[in-house]
Amino acid sequence: MNNRALVLFSGGQDSTTCLAWALENFDHVETVGFDYGQRHRIELDCRKHVVEGLRRLRPDWARRLGDDHTIGLEALGAISDTALTRDVELQMETNGLPNTFVPGRNIIFLTFAAALAYRRGLRHLVGGMCETDYSGYPDCRDDTIKALQVALNLGMERRFVLHTPLMWIDKAATWELARSLAGGDLLDLIREETHTCYLGERGVRHAWGYGCGHCPACQLREAGHEKYQSTRQTSEAEQEHEHV
Ligand code: ZN
Repeated sequence: MNNRALVLFSGGQDSTTCLAWALENFDHVETVGFDYGQRHRIELDCRKHVVEGLRRLRPDWARRLGDDHTIGLEALGAISDTALTRDVELQMETNGLPNTFVPGRNIIFLTFAAALAYRRGLRHLVGGMCETDYSGYPDCRDDTIKALQVALNLGMERRFVLHTPLMWIDKAATWELARSLAGGDLLDLIREETHTCYLGERGVRHAWGYGCGHCPACQLREAGHEKYQSTRQTSEAEQEHEHV
């Protein structure tokens, strides 16, 4: 096996940045999305526009982009009593986790992704899990991903490599990573076409993209975007100063 990758691609900011990262690093890249009855299913519609945008942005990436897969995991939504799969208010639970936590979600996603990658002959699995400014989801932790890599390789007799390029960076650095991969055009594509809002709202366009502006996902995206822009302005001002 090979330099072929499968990206867990939801249509959000993080997985879009991961997809761009994979297109820069692998010869052939396929994508997979999961429909588990999430309230923000609108993200699945955004995926098409994001992929089309990436193709237009970089012809070399267009050549590397392979099939897009969608897997129905309605059973996950049916057994999960969470704010991502039920029409209830987003809040913190007494166990310290937000009620947007869908137990087992990333473990299930990665297991299905590995089964698909097995069939498609793809060695590298890429996901946007992040420990840095995540919502406290234990299945986003580096140890969970590393343990899963071992389990999948033992259980499927393969040498899959699980990549999480965002694991140790915050949202501001995620914007910066996207800029470093394909410049301002990719940032514009992410702002315009990706979906982050947990409530699935796309009515209002903010500086950082569409969303309700209030849910934890929107707030995290907004704060990261603001921090990115102020860091960017500072470094541009410093460069200007050096040139004088
Ligand atoms: Zn929102």
